[in-house]
Amino acid sequence: QEEANLAARTRDDLRCPVVVIMGHVDTGKTKLLDKIRKTNVQEGEAGGITQQIGATYFEKKTLLAQTARLNETEKFDLTLPGMLVIDTPGHESFTNLRSRGSSLCDVAILVVDLMHGLEQQTIESLHMLRNRGTPFVVALNKVDRCYDWKTCKDSPIRDALKVQPEGTMQEFRSRASDAKLQLQEQGVNSNIYWEMGEDDWENSDFVPLVPTSAITGEGVQDILLLLCQISQRKLWRRLMWCANLQCTVLEVKAIDGLGMTVDLLVVNGYLREGDKAVFCTLDGPIVTEIRGLLTPPPSREMRIKSEYIHHKEIKGALGVKVIGNGLEKVMAGTPVLVVGPDDEVEDIKAEVMSDLTKLQEKLSTD
Ligand code: GDP
Repeated sequence: QEEANLAARTRDDLRCPVVVIMGHVDTGKTKLLDKIRKTNVQEGEAGGITQQIGATYFEKKTLLAQTARLNETEKFDLTLPGMLVIDTPGHESFTNLRSRGSSLCDVAILVVDLMHGLEQQTIESLHMLRNRGTPFVVALNKVDRCYDWKTCKDSPIRDALKVQPEGTMQEFRSRASDAKLQLQEQGVNSNIYWEMGEDDWENSDFVPLVPTSAITGEGVQDILLLLCQISQRKLWRRLMWCANLQCTVLEVKAIDGLGMTVDLLVVNGYLREGDKAVFCTLDGPIVTEIRGLLTPPPSREMRIKSEYIHHKEIKGALGVKVIGNGLEKVMAGTPVLVVGPDDEVEDIKAEVMSDLTKLQEKLSTD
């Protein structure tokens, strides 16, 4: 089995990258995701979201469809099975995310409002990403707010820039260059991504900038394709599919009709209905059977009560809602393990709790 696992681990067998979307409030994080999902969470489709962390799974076919026009020229061979995007809604404090989603994420989108430049939470996110060594791209969002912007709905950003009047281009260049300077003040070298030289791409500290509009859609193709390219070209070792369960609790939540549920981020490995899972609580580890594994349909947000799809088995990376007994005291941010046929329950319990201790130590040093 182990050998089969190893053999299966090749560059062509990558899991979905976990992408986290960060930035100051009102920079357009939700709107950007809405644009990719073709939903309208930002204007209240969510109807009173009370959960803090969202997860949306995009299938490979969605990524292909959403990058088709740009890829006519880029001709990138997309092999990823999909992409999982983690986000926190508008006014959630960013520290919540810090201790949960971000430590597991592979790559990030840092959203900056082109009209406002770097703001407080953007700078905090920036330093956190740097400290963790997480690669990221910066979306210079709201490019459509440059004076006299000519909308080119959903088009690649370079096509859109080509048709802008000179005055609009001047404003764009000046604002983009301000953002670049502000990033530099934070110790971050960056450039508009198509102006980056080969050396810049080789330099893992160099950050690509992508002008976007989450309203009219320019540049959204670019940011998606860029994330896929970074994942396949730079993160493939990290993304090699592996059957060992790597899983964290995002949130614990009572849901009408389902009882107490936990939302998990399964980065790697499988979870199956009937698995004996071990969770951390303040009172120590608990062992409980997974009674249900639910996900929203692809391209739908996990927080939003939709028609959940029931699964017998899921494979990482995926966000999944788990039903089971005794989940009330499970702690967000803690790891989850499953008792395998050859495992001793007590060993797994000890392992889960030691992971928790390590996690706490790590967080206190951040
Ligand atoms: P979040 O707090 O980062 O999730 O920001 P939202 O997605 O809620 O957006 C904040 C506000 O900015 C909303 O009124 C959006 O309609 C608006 N907005 C977001 N993206 C854009 C954009 O690209 N262009 C323009 N003109 N407005 C935007």
